[in-house]
Amino acid sequence: MQLGELYDSAITQYNAALELNNGSWPALQGLSHCYLERKNYDEAALYLQRAMGLVSKGDPKLVWILNMEYIEVMILKRDYKSAFSYAKKAFEEAPCTATIQQYVRCLYTLRDWPAILKAVQDLEKTKEWSLRYTFVQLRACMFHIGCALWSQKQMSLFDPLLTRALEAMEENNEWATRPWIVFWIAQFIQKFYEDTSVAAQLCDRMLSPQFKEGLGPERQWAYDTVADPATIILSSIYYEKAVAAHKAGQDPDGWVQKLRARSLADDTDLKTPNVYKLNEFSWKLGIYLRKYGMVPEAEWKACFRDAVLQAIDMLCDEDPFNDVEAYALLATLFMAAGDVMNASAAYATIHTEFSYSSDPDALATLEAINFIGPFLCCNGFCAPLHKEDQIFVYKEVYCCTECWATHFCEKCLSVLKKGDLPFRQCSPEHEFVRLLPVPEESIGVAAKFDKENKNMVVQREWLDARRREWQQ
Ligand SMILES: [Zn+2]
Ligand SMILES: [Zn+2]
Repeated sequence: MQLGELYDSAITQYNAALELNNGSWPALQGLSHCYLERKNYDEAALYLQRAMGLVSKGDPKLVWILNMEYIEVMILKRDYKSAFSYAKKAFEEAPCTATIQQYVRCLYTLRDWPAILKAVQDLEKTKEWSLRYTFVQLRACMFHIGCALWSQKQMSLFDPLLTRALEAMEENNEWATRPWIVFWIAQFIQKFYEDTSVAAQLCDRMLSPQFKEGLGPERQWAYDTVADPATIILSSIYYEKAVAAHKAGQDPDGWVQKLRARSLADDTDLKTPNVYKLNEFSWKLGIYLRKYGMVPEAEWKACFRDAVLQAIDMLCDEDPFNDVEAYALLATLFMAAGDVMNASAAYATIHTEFSYSSDPDALATLEAINFIGPFLCCNGFCAPLHKEDQIFVYKEVYCCTECWATHFCEKCLSVLKKGDLPFRQCSPEHEFVRLLPVPEESIGVAAKFDKENKNMVVQREWLDARRREWQQ
C-alpha cells in the first residue's frame, strides 16, 4: 500500500484502523511512514510520538525501534537538537553499532569531533566491536567518523580496522561476492588518508581484466557496481599526484602516463591520432594538460572532444529525456576545458527549476520533461547529511574551475576557504565561478524553457557554434 502513489489510500486505511482502535501503535507507525515518504516530517514526527507514548512501558525492543525512527525523522527535519538529545540517550543506554550511527551523524552536524572519537572508543570496548566487520556495520556513519579522525589527526586509530577488513575480504572470497566493500574502503582511504597508495592499488585491481574475468559472466553486475566508483577514485588519485608533483617541482610524468594509459581506447595505435575513452581518466588528463602540461590546445582538447560531440548529438536526437544529462555533461566538460561562459550557459539549463521554485505548475512541467533532480549536490560539509532533498536549501552554488565536477553551497565554500573542510576535497586556492543564482547573461542561451508548451527548447545556434568549435 505504501508504494507508488498509494499513500492516500494507505493513510485512509490506517485512519480507519485507528477509529476502530485508537490504541493501535502499528497504525500510527504506518501513518508516520506514509508522511515520511511524502517528506512531511512534522506529521511523521507527530504520529511517531503518539505511537511512542502508547508503547512506552511495553516491549523494550519496540520502544527502541520507534525511538530510532523518531531520531531519523528529526535528522531529516533538520531539528538536530532534538535528534541529538534522543540519539545521545539511546547510545549511552545501549552502545552498539546501531545506536552509534545516528549519534555520530548528530555529532557531525555539531562538528563535535572529540565526542565522535569518544563514542567510537566507547563502542570499541563492547562485544559488538569486531575488526572484521565493524567497517561494514558502521557504513552509514563511516564518512562522519573519518571527518572526526581527520580533524583530530587520529587516522592511525583506524589502521588495524582497515587492515583486518581487507584481510577478511581475501579470506572469505568477498572480492568476488561483495566487491563494493573494497570500494567503500578505497573511498575512505582516498578521502581521509595522507597516503592514498593502498586505495590506488585496490582500485587498480577492481578495474583489472583479471578481476572482471574472475567474476564470470553471471557476476558481471558485481563488476558494474564497482567499475564507475573505482574509476572516479583512481583518476582523482592520479590527477592529484600529478598536480602535487608538478607543484613540488618533481617529474609528474609517471602519473600523467597512468592517466593516459586508462584514457586511450584499447585499439589506438601509434600511427592514428589518439582516441580517448569517455571516462574520468580522459577528462582529468585533459584538465592536467590544459592547466599544467604546457601542451598545444589541440592536445588537451582531444581528451574532451568525443564526449562533447556525443553530448551535442544527444541534444539533436528525438529523445528529450536524455537532454538534461547531455547539458549536465556539457556543463562539466566546458568548465574542465576552461570555457566558463558556455559552461555557465549549459548549467543554467539544468538550474531552470531554481527560477521557478515558487511555481508548482512550472516545477511539475520541468519534472515531466526530466529537468528536475539532484544533478548538482554540494560536495562540501553538508553533502553527507542531505543527499536528495537539499536542492532548494542552497542560496548560492559555486563551481570549482579546476576540480572535475566539484560544487559548493555558500556555507561550505566559506568552510573550504578557511581550510576547515574535514576531508580531502578541492583546495582553498582554487578559483570558483558562481552558478546560482543563475547569472542573468546565462539564462536562455543554451536552451529556453517554454512553460506553455511544456518544453525545453534546445538553442540550435548555440549548439552548432559549439559543434564547430569542437570539431576542429
Ligand atoms: Zn554545502
Ligand atoms: Zn577545486
